[in-house]
Amino acid sequence: WNRRALLLSMLGFSAYFSELSRGKRAMEHRAVKTRDPTPVEELSPADVFIAVKTTKKYHHTRLDLLLDTWISRNMLQTYVFTDGEDDRLRKRMGSHMINTNCSAAHSRQALSCKMAVEYDTFISSGKKWFCHVDDDNYVNIRPLVKLLSHYSHAHDVYIGRPSLDRPLEATERFGDAHTRPVRFWFATGGAGFCVSRGLALKMSPWASGGNFMTTADRIHLPDDCTVGYIIEALLGVGLIRSPLFHSHLENLQLVSPTQIHHQVTLSYGTVDSKRNIINIRGALSLDEDPTRFRSVHCVLYPDTPWCSALTWY
Ligand code: UDP
Ligand code: MN
Repeated sequence: WNRRALLLSMLGFSAYFSELSRGKRAMEHRAVKTRDPTPVEELSPADVFIAVKTTKKYHHTRLDLLLDTWISRNMLQTYVFTDGEDDRLRKRMGSHMINTNCSAAHSRQALSCKMAVEYDTFISSGKKWFCHVDDDNYVNIRPLVKLLSHYSHAHDVYIGRPSLDRPLEATERFGDAHTRPVRFWFATGGAGFCVSRGLALKMSPWASGGNFMTTADRIHLPDDCTVGYIIEALLGVGLIRSPLFHSHLENLQLVSPTQIHHQVTLSYGTVDSKRNIINIRGALSLDEDPTRFRSVHCVLYPDTPWCSALTWY
């Protein structure tokens, strides 16, 4: 499965497409919402732990693009979680490449296995914020740090973007016979989400060591849904919605070109074999930069050597 297939199977087609159009409303909402300008906490990029989930077959096709762009500017706080050794990646990332030894299958269990290792590695890192992204996300560190600085890392904070317009309805299983319906919101992993250290520590009984896998099995849902289940359903902490996180489940053309530098995450994908990408013009054509991540990177970091060699018009 992938997230789109999962959502389609849970919601049916009409709800899924109303979800795609919801992206537009989220953008309009952002325009009227003004955020408190005073930060709660002085924060630097070093306080944030960014976990990138990947798999061996995407080291070349997806991860190289991230290494050429945003990861190169965030080496100290970025950790890549994968499922196979790779000398080239090991040379480039050193101890920041973590071979989870989880299965390379795109199964619910394999993805939960990786999330469990991400969680444990974050806890031992001592950093203030845990942020998870997929390997088809661009992370813009400045607005990320700015957003998180409006909250205290010691408080209970879970922030991201839901991909459904209503809470997920699932079934908790206890033992063989006993089940209970449960409703909760979750932040879609494909847009990235962050959890404060204070909240992450409270998740420990359900998330640390082998517990995450057991919890995921109890509700039979993927990794990102399981995080939402632990935080909302078990700990009673509500998801803070941010329209600054973006997955390819929304229509990425709706992100205004003038607002790109304020966005925390971006993504790319395909819908019905058509490209779903950020609308950004620049020196790189669609053929040269099909994901638009290189173009975004050159706007954010024009001093990048391979950017300054480009002619902008
Ligand atoms: N992924 C993985 N193992 C796999 C396939 C995918 O860990 O066998 C990771 C992939 O690297 C990405 C995330 O799962 O970070 C989501 O994968 P993808 O973008 O292909 O699917 P989506 O759920 O976004 O449709
Ligand atoms: Mn994806």
